[in-house]
Amino acid sequence: MKKKEKCAVCEDELDSDAEDEGEKNVGCDICPRWYHLSCTKLAGQTYVAVCDQEFICNFCGDREY
Ligand SMILES: [Zn+2]
Ligand SMILES: [Zn+2]
Repeated sequence: MKKKEKCAVCEDELDSDAEDEGEKNVGCDICPRWYHLSCTKLAGQTYVAVCDQEFICNFCGDREY
């Protein structure tokens, strides 16, 4: 059983079969959180382009390393 992931921003369920680019799921490269593409700073980019680069969410990106 695969549990439903929820977007860490809007807390709506993520649909892995979403056809709308903005509804597709992106996972942070650092933490286990998942987001709608449209709920991230990458909104407006295509899903393929997003998969091609690293995605660090706002929670992780706010940290200073
Ligand atoms: Zn969302
Ligand atoms: Zn993160």
